[in-house]
Amino acid sequence: MSHYLITGGAGFIGSHLSEALLERGHYVTVIDNLSTGRFENIAPLVGNPRFRFAIDTITNEIVMDRLVSECDIVVHMAAVVGVELILKDPVNVIETNILGTHFVLKVANRYRKQVLFASTSEIYGKNENVPFREDDDRVLGPATVARWSYSSSKAVDEFLSLAYHRKNDLPVVIFRLFNTVGPRQTGRYGMVIPRFVRQALSGEPITVYGDGNQARCFVHVKDVVEAIIALSACPQAIGQVFNIGSTDEVSILELAHRVLKLADAALGRAPTGIDERVRLVPYEQAYTAGFEDMKRRMPDIGKIGRYVGWQPRSSLDEILQDVIQFSMQRSQ
Ligand code: UDP
Repeated sequence: MSHYLITGGAGFIGSHLSEALLERGHYVTVIDNLSTGRFENIAPLVGNPRFRFAIDTITNEIVMDRLVSECDIVVHMAAVVGVELILKDPVNVIETNILGTHFVLKVANRYRKQVLFASTSEIYGKNENVPFREDDDRVLGPATVARWSYSSSKAVDEFLSLAYHRKNDLPVVIFRLFNTVGPRQTGRYGMVIPRFVRQALSGEPITVYGDGNQARCFVHVKDVVEAIIALSACPQAIGQVFNIGSTDEVSILELAHRVLKLADAALGRAPTGIDERVRLVPYEQAYTAGFEDMKRRMPDIGKIGRYVGWQPRSSLDEILQDVIQFSMQRSQ
């Protein structure tokens, strides 16, 4: 059994990872400053003798030094995420993502601990040449457009992680997460599925940005945590970068229709007037002027398949049903 330290472990993905690791008999310590993470995400884990948590920032040297020294593997997920936050607080994005990761790597290197770094599909920018392979080019807009600061901050983190691996032989694995969804994800920071589900259940119009022809591939968080755990136990993965995501593509307009149908079914309502319940919102109203959205985003998942035999299992309808159930239970 191993001891995992999960930075950002009270977040949506981190809390699912903590739960899955505890179920397998591992030890888990979470550090989270609860900026976007929520205590209620990890509350059910408190009381498990193999679980500990610290509410603190990852740049608290005294705390991090101790926690890293006591663990076997660091999964570094603490970061500023979500398009809305990135546009609202760009200084915080750059500081947290770059300085925070540098700090985690420095402390991990001090104790020679393995680091799994959570990166993102935003790395590929507006490259339209899907599916994206790990060694594909990055296509970014100008530095005057705030959106690209997130992609760039995560790219610097990747460079730094690989540099620590090459220079100091630090065991580092990088995984790039593509649109991950499931229970506990909040729509507060712009994520589309929890927003659509909340809107559908409360009878509000579904806000589809642009013309809705942009497409994404959504993966269930429970599949994602399987992938992360498999990578953490694969010595050949060290020094490598992996995409984690689904290849099942759906347009955002089609997604809105699917959410409405499944939400109606869950509420026992007849699915009527689906088209009238969708509202197209121009991008400049939804975000800021000059905002660029990705048209398509799909991972090539051949590499992670070859290394650890992983592929996603849940269909989009299963994902949506899980999110709808969660949302209905929470509002009871
Ligand atoms: N989106 C939308 N309505 C919303 C929120 C998002 O149409 O209320 C769109 C958004 O413009 C993007 C897609 O849904 O094209 C996925 O957005 P999300 O923020 O979930 O992820 P990302 O942009 O990082 O893929």
